[in-house]
Amino acid sequence: MQLALGLVPPWQVKGCAFDADRRRLDIEIDFARGSRFPCPACGKPDCPVHDTARQEWRHLDFFQHQAFLHARTPRITCPDCGVRQIAVPWARPGSGFTLLFEALAMTLMTAMPVAAAARLMGEHDTRMWRILHHWVEKARERADYAQVKRVAIDETAARRGHNYITLFVDIDKRRVLYVADGRDAGTVAQFADDLEAHNGDASRIKQVCIDMSGAFIKGVTDNLTEAEITFDKFHAVKLVNDALDKVRRAEAKTRPELKRSRYIWLKNEPNLPPDQAAQLGSLASTNLKTARAYRLRLAFQEVYTMPSRAWGELHFDRWFSWARRCCLEPMKQVALTLDRHRDGILRWFDSTIANGLIEGINSLVQAAKAKARGYRSTRTLKAITYLLAGKLDLRLPT
Ligand SMILES: [Zn+2]
Repeated sequence: MQLALGLVPPWQVKGCAFDADRRRLDIEIDFARGSRFPCPACGKPDCPVHDTARQEWRHLDFFQHQAFLHARTPRITCPDCGVRQIAVPWARPGSGFTLLFEALAMTLMTAMPVAAAARLMGEHDTRMWRILHHWVEKARERADYAQVKRVAIDETAARRGHNYITLFVDIDKRRVLYVADGRDAGTVAQFADDLEAHNGDASRIKQVCIDMSGAFIKGVTDNLTEAEITFDKFHAVKLVNDALDKVRRAEAKTRPELKRSRYIWLKNEPNLPPDQAAQLGSLASTNLKTARAYRLRLAFQEVYTMPSRAWGELHFDRWFSWARRCCLEPMKQVALTLDRHRDGILRWFDSTIANGLIEGINSLVQAAKAKARGYRSTRTLKAITYLLAGKLDLRLPT
């Protein structure tokens, strides 16, 4: 048993007790009488034991039975540092689990919801979360952001209809760098601080992709002063889609054929099933206002298919003047909004960055939300997001 546990002197197995009824194995570990330990603070060897306290740790299961280690853990007296608690080699200070148990717990929680991992291991999920927070925080402390140059920033709802979190994603390494509470300009300031705490530098960020929210623009302008802003093309198209849908909803009051047609106008035509494509085809060629708005939306998307920025500018400006003259108020409004952000929209031709690059990240974050479901604080959501999408080096014990 001593060999199986990998114990080295002065630690040794003193006894085992197996209780079939309670389905548990208890292993008593002790150190040899008169053992001396190095000081955990200064490393001075051979410090005498001052006193001991009994502790219990849950270890990996023994077959189908739970296994526990027990030991009296010593405090030593160091001539320089005084009385100090020493660490045992099989667990980290303050944990009721062995390191190997925690490593297995982390592996399971990476692969399945925390509640499912807790059931499988026969543990309470608050204790599982405590393990998760510890390893994620440690790994985050070590994370190195020195090379980060291009960042995508996006908000996501933390819980349905509730508060938001903002994600900062390293575009080149496709990893979540930072998760902030809220979606205001202050989140970017927090990110800049966090970057510096991880060997990074806000002035090294050269490219940023954001939506057109004033908060992010201000946050980036104030805190990532060297960064050029690209406005995310998916957000830009979404604004045009929202305007198109406003036109449709207003017109549907007098044109019943438009009711329940929202989906077919917003999807891109190749993605529609044949019957809806046919419906779109007949509606789109009419004089409906919605059909005009739809053609405007298609024309806006074409900006992004232009072969160069110069062509993109030309197409954008022609689109803008068309939209301004189209007599559809929502389209005129969105055209003004987009024109105010023209430079950042067209910067896409140079930077070619978009938040769609982090689609994979978004799906990981959705998975994180599912795993953290039922938890009131965003702390759990953040920790899971770092675990699944942060590409952290957890350095789990083996
Ligand atoms: Zn010492």
